[in-house]
Amino acid sequence: MATDPSIISFFQGQYIPLAEAKISVLTHGFGYGTGCFEGIRGYYNDEHEQVYLFRLPEHYDRLAQSARTLMMNLQYSPAELSEISLECIRRSNLRQDVYLRPMVYKSTPAIGVRLHDLEDDVVVIMVPFGNYIDIDRALKVGVSSWKRIDDNMIPARAKITGAYINSAFAKSEAQMNGFDEAIMLNSDGHVSEGSAENLFMYRKGVWVTPPVTENILEGITRDTVMTLLREELGQRVEERIIDRTELYAADELFLCGTGAQIAPVGSVDHRQLADGKIGPITAQVQRLYFEVVRGNVPRYAHWCTPVYTPASTLHRNGNGNGNGAAAGVALAETVIAPDPVVPRR
Ligand code: PMP
Repeated sequence: MATDPSIISFFQGQYIPLAEAKISVLTHGFGYGTGCFEGIRGYYNDEHEQVYLFRLPEHYDRLAQSARTLMMNLQYSPAELSEISLECIRRSNLRQDVYLRPMVYKSTPAIGVRLHDLEDDVVVIMVPFGNYIDIDRALKVGVSSWKRIDDNMIPARAKITGAYINSAFAKSEAQMNGFDEAIMLNSDGHVSEGSAENLFMYRKGVWVTPPVTENILEGITRDTVMTLLREELGQRVEERIIDRTELYAADELFLCGTGAQIAPVGSVDHRQLADGKIGPITAQVQRLYFEVVRGNVPRYAHWCTPVYTPASTLHRNGNGNGNGAAAGVALAETVIAPDPVVPRR
């Protein structure tokens, strides 16, 4: 991946160019996958001349929970990490869609597998980003021969770096077999989720998604979609166990996640769903989702944290994170020198 020298990251307590953020090959997190991370999208709104980070506090709350699970001593609060993220974008002066990747990892250069008695560190990196998978057509998905990791093996509800080997096995198998994406089943054969997305199925007039106890990551997009389906589109939504072959009988199906956004599915294991095209309600969800994330729906303005301007643009309802346009631009124009700006706790 290109490392544009103007992209600023937060690494070891300092704002530095992304290309300079480097770790030792002995780093515990590198050797054993003992890290956790988030994927957060920022959407550029042309009309507002603004980048909005979508559901920023929720992402950092989840990161804190993942870190707790890995017995880490996260040195920054979710609020501090939110501010650091905004600052990275301002200092990079990015005015386009971005993808933020905060990570907490066991930073001790050590050999010896464990979770305890290790230091940890935080890094916030980002890249300009478009679509992660093609969402303008209905995807062909296949059920993976790789089972989803179980809560008592590697907890899927924590977003753990090492756990993504499980997703990588499934994703590569699916793509090398001619599918766009994989659906993973639990050890008991029930549907869990995609390789990096949650799943929604429309069947007999009800939207169904697997419950949080089915080894899914408790997706923030999943929560967003449940709200939009219920509140805006008047749909019934149930969280219940889904059998594999129910997917073949679905009237509509889509995958969703920060990276994938709303990804319609047209076939499962070579069984076409309905007419094989993007389902009508799925298309509505997709349209609405993009209006919401780009900050065009005042009712959901509280989900969109502006990077550059005061909270007033969106008539925010009180949980403002705005830091003022003037401050943002001024910071973006300063020459970057490594300066520890946020005290470590
Ligand atoms: N499941 C997995 C395994 C994922 O990696 C992701 C992406 N973070 C999701 C679901 C969707 O989660 P979110 O909507 O919070 O991005």
